[in-house]
Amino acid sequence: MTVTRFPPSPTGYLHIGGARTALYSWLHAKQNNGTFILRIEDTDLERSTQESVQAILDGMEWLELDYDEGPYYQTQRFDRYKEVVQQLLNDGHAYHCYCSKEEVDIMREEQRAKGEKPRYDGRCRHRTEPVDGVSPVVRFKNPLDGDVVIEDLVKGNIIINNRELDDLIIARSDGVPTYNLTVVVDDLDMNMTHIIRGDDHINNTPRQINIMRALGADADGKELPKFAHVPMILGEDGKRLSKRHGAVGVMQYRDEGYLPEALLNYLVRLGWSHGDKELFTRQELLELFRIEDVNRAASIFNAEKLLWINHEAIKALTGEELAIKADWHFSQKGITIADEPLAGQALELVKERTKTLLELVDQTRFFFKDIEEYDPAALKKWVKTATPDILTEVYKRLEALSDWTAENLHHVVQSTVDDLEVGFAKVAQPIRIAVTGSTQSPAIDQTLLVLGRDTTLARVHKANSAFEQAVVARQA
Ligand code: GLU
Repeated sequence: MTVTRFPPSPTGYLHIGGARTALYSWLHAKQNNGTFILRIEDTDLERSTQESVQAILDGMEWLELDYDEGPYYQTQRFDRYKEVVQQLLNDGHAYHCYCSKEEVDIMREEQRAKGEKPRYDGRCRHRTEPVDGVSPVVRFKNPLDGDVVIEDLVKGNIIINNRELDDLIIARSDGVPTYNLTVVVDDLDMNMTHIIRGDDHINNTPRQINIMRALGADADGKELPKFAHVPMILGEDGKRLSKRHGAVGVMQYRDEGYLPEALLNYLVRLGWSHGDKELFTRQELLELFRIEDVNRAASIFNAEKLLWINHEAIKALTGEELAIKADWHFSQKGITIADEPLAGQALELVKERTKTLLELVDQTRFFFKDIEEYDPAALKKWVKTATPDILTEVYKRLEALSDWTAENLHHVVQSTVDDLEVGFAKVAQPIRIAVTGSTQSPAIDQTLLVLGRDTTLARVHKANSAFEQAVVARQA
């Protein structure tokens, strides 16, 4: 049974890199009918915040990375960590260290002076008596020699000699356990089979493997979890992706009008590929993704490509589907489209030309809201070139229509053009401004069709008087 996890520390947003790791772990669990666990690593009480926990939960929900277990909170498991620290002490795998910070600093200075790698030299390993008045830390007794081999699913075998590692602190003097201890206890208790995480953790892995072994994780027929360290995501300047690159939290992409499936599609490709294929449905990812095929090298974040994928993802949806996806964005602008029977048709008309859901809202809001103001530039142009009777004429012809069909609507525009002997735009543009407030809209007949008879007539009528007033004002 495959078990994977996503264990973010709630000290900021759920960022792009975290979301990609979560996605890889989610995919790996789901494609093996396994379990995906969300664990909040909130033991750093100073830096962890409730807002950040919420941002993580919101991000996971928005991306539809559903977890089978959790969220577990490490702060609720302190008793368990203390128990394991005690077990390691009892079994002789850990010891109390009374060295002061100054003592350790001096030790490191001396090692540096000798050209050695600074490390704790294990001097408290053999101490038998406590030091009065000092609360000790607990250190793990790292094996003194031999190699640790990480059989990494992405990077291949990585071999580290134990002489490179020192006895790391697993509990601070106030009793609070450290990351390397808590992560191991949880990964073992939660029966993790695959640990998929950023390669910034690769230095921790041999230490964690040693602690796992000390806890019997590969004895009695049991196996260590498998590791997959995925490379970092870099900005265009080759530096690790950060706020400086404008890439903040996942939820910012929602706010900017990205579809969650587009973001996931982009993220999965950042570090993995399947031939030349760029666009994947979730189902295709579940079939095709392999953690073993993730690239070894870092990848570079490309905002334009993400936008392209978003455009493709918008085009792939029907108007009705888009209405559901864009509902939240409309409501942010005070527009409710849930009860609009024509919402799907309206969105269908513009989807080919919109790269984000925000653009979609912008280009279709006139369908759902009265026009409060005409685009001043459009109005100005209209007034200058206007032939006053055009809208009166159009109104008459529209009103006389017995069937409100695209064909008939087209005919009204075209016959007005022919009868008044003017260019097509001279007729189409005033209608556009009248019904949309601006000169940009999908094809005029389609626009009027979706708007419907009553709204169209009311808007043409209203615009006609607004227009006349503007002409009068200009002449005065
Ligand atoms: N809490 C750690 C982090 O957010 C988890 C690392 C891991 O996957 O072990 O970096």
